[in-house]
Amino acid sequence: MTDRVILHVDADAFFASVEQITNPFLKGKPVVVCGLPLEHGVVTAASYEARPYGVKAGMPVAQARKLLPDGYFVPVNIPKYLFFSTRLLSIYLQMTPRVEAYSVDEVFLDLSGVADPWKQAVELKRQIAQETGLTVSIGIGPNKLIAKIASDLDKPDGLTMVLPEQALQVLGPLPVERCPGIGPKTAANLKALGIVTFSDLAQVPLAKLRWWFGKNGEKLYWAARGVDETPMVLLDQLPPLKSKGHEITFDQPMRSVEAAQAVIWEISGRLGFEFRSQQRLAGGIRLKVKPVGGKAVTRQTRLLAATADERVIAKTAFQLFRQGNFTELRGLGIYGIYLVSSVKDQNQLHLFPEDIPGEERLQTAIDHLKQKYGEGIVVPALNLLSSDFKGSGKG
Ligand SMILES: [Mg+2]
Repeated sequence: MTDRVILHVDADAFFASVEQITNPFLKGKPVVVCGLPLEHGVVTAASYEARPYGVKAGMPVAQARKLLPDGYFVPVNIPKYLFFSTRLLSIYLQMTPRVEAYSVDEVFLDLSGVADPWKQAVELKRQIAQETGLTVSIGIGPNKLIAKIASDLDKPDGLTMVLPEQALQVLGPLPVERCPGIGPKTAANLKALGIVTFSDLAQVPLAKLRWWFGKNGEKLYWAARGVDETPMVLLDQLPPLKSKGHEITFDQPMRSVEAAQAVIWEISGRLGFEFRSQQRLAGGIRLKVKPVGGKAVTRQTRLLAATADERVIAKTAFQLFRQGNFTELRGLGIYGIYLVSSVKDQNQLHLFPEDIPGEERLQTAIDHLKQKYGEGIVVPALNLLSSDFKGSGKG
């Protein structure tokens, strides 16, 4: 196998940057993007101006407001970020078809065999800045693991290349939580064993790691050495999704119709692209509402034409909601029902028709990104380690 050259491209403070680009008033100001429902949401992104105050993704909005009373708090806006994701993807696809959409704002590009990957990366950054106004941080490495770690070494607007022979030297002093897939919990477990850095980890014999961590021990062993053979998951190889509905439970009772509408829109957005990913259409919509102090109520209806369009899903769900005369809610869910295959109709299902070239793979990519986003805060974790090693991501 010839040497691989993998780029990891990560948009800097993506959601917050998009807000600043689309509303120049916010430029240079501390911007905090908040998830829904607004009053009890968590921070989904913080601009670099907000970060010195300690505001970061995953933190309750209320806490962020205390840390940064003068910040600009804006609600999360999925279509806007997807629009930028799509533009980024079309730039990547101009460079290579070997693109893995890792999250809404992160991709891996396989530039193996390309003469000067550094030059390509510089060109990519220039083109992205010019066409979108975004900055990205790029890591170049012999595999996905090292590329991802490298992109994080010089944020924002960074470019870091790690040659195979430099891998141990670069990784060695880094704390183990820089390893994608090692979260705070695993890092704490490792620390208790005296393992803080990659070089500490590399000192531990394989048998010991296996004893401590089971099959993940072996993955840790190789990660410590910068070895990763995880293949690229190209856009047209994405696995199908299983889920056909989502529910959200609120921490505090939800009382306003506007808040319910926002939640309906959020869930519908998720469902729409999941159906497109699964090449399915919903022939009907079911709404599930959990009133405070009462049993869950479901209402459903058939659609005139099967759809994967979130606007239709949201509109239908909201009509069902309005029929219910609900006051205080503790939860809300939306399901697509009477699902049918959409293979024949797929090409009609564009979210941003003006922005999509004829290539079907791009549509798949958008849906994949949206799916990633719909899972909540984007949590990067390479398939390197299994699910019980999931770490928390950063912008
Ligand atoms: Mg990012």
